[in-house]
Amino acid sequence: MGVTELEKPAGRWCVHFRRGRGCDAYEARPASCRVFNCTWLLTEALDESWKPTVSGFVMHADAGRLIVECDPSRPHAWRAAPYREMLELWAARGQEVLIFAGRRGLRLNPDASTRPVART
Ligand code: SF4
Repeated sequence: MGVTELEKPAGRWCVHFRRGRGCDAYEARPASCRVFNCTWLLTEALDESWKPTVSGFVMHADAGRLIVECDPSRPHAWRAAPYREMLELWAARGQEVLIFAGRRGLRLNPDASTRPVART
């Protein structure tokens, strides 16, 4: 995801990320990092299979939309069971669902079709 305070665009590693260690600026991380909680953390009904390290994507809400941010090395992770079926159900019920892998994105339509969207 993008981090405005760091001028970090979506799809690029943060300069503070250290593989195997996490954030090397944790105590001084920007406000948007401090307040962020993914949908899996906030939703008791989503079991361990939805944990980002398992699923391959992070979900979060943005202006009423559900954003699914796939690991760019696993851009089709959302298509696996049980994820696709549930995302399609939410879209069919009127939830706007956008799926991104880096800068490439899709809108999941209520009829389960998809169409490309650009990240704004
Ligand atoms: S939590 Fe740390 S590594 Fe993650 S985006 Fe924020 S500053 Fe970067």
